Amino acid sequence: MSTIICPKCGSSAIKERKKQTPKERNQDNKNRMRHAYKCETCKGLFGRVYEYKEYSPEYQCYQLEFTVGGFRDGYKTIQIEQADGYANITVYPPVIRYDGIQYTAHIPLSDWEDIKDDLFNQLFILSWKKNYMNHDVMDGTQWEVILTFDNRKPLKISGSNDFPVLYNQFLDLVNPYFDLLGVEIAGYHTLLNKR
Ligand SMILES: [Zn+2]
Repeated sequence: MSTIICPKCGSSAIKERKKQTPKERNQDNKNRMRHAYKCETCKGLFGRVYEYKEYSPEYQCYQLEFTVGGFRDGYKTIQIEQADGYANITVYPPVIRYDGIQYTAHIPLSDWEDIKDDLFNQLFILSWKKNYMNHDVMDGTQWEVILTFDNRKPLKISGSNDFPVLYNQFLDLVNPYFDLLGVEIAGYHTLLNKR
């Protein structure tokens, strides 16, 4: 991913911002940041550059949880949790096929940091709405993202048959790890430990 896409409307008419607004200038130390981009189409501001890196969401976020599925096929969940020097990935298969087994893998901390960099600086997940709902569809697909931080409340975003404009790019981030489940079934036990 390299083209910047507005997380609110999907436009690629984006302008980089250099200056802070007065409101941004008046923030307290811990939160001092400016929005990195302005969408020319919807005028939305997004992308956050923190004056103090250690207060940035990519620094403070230590867990990602994503659940997706539907009534018919069940829900699958992936959880990525930062540990000491690596990150733990746990995949829970759809409940319908759930046999009490979850699958775990370790990934290098650098992979987790790349995921977070994409989440906050390419997908701009902090600028997503909290809820994406299409009430006209019965059943269909439900999904939920929960991000957990050291310095702020968990961020919960959910949807039912409606999706953020950058949802597919989000799936590109997590799908390789769901695929690990298939890898496990194929017998690559060195990478994954069955619990
Ligand atoms: Zn926009």
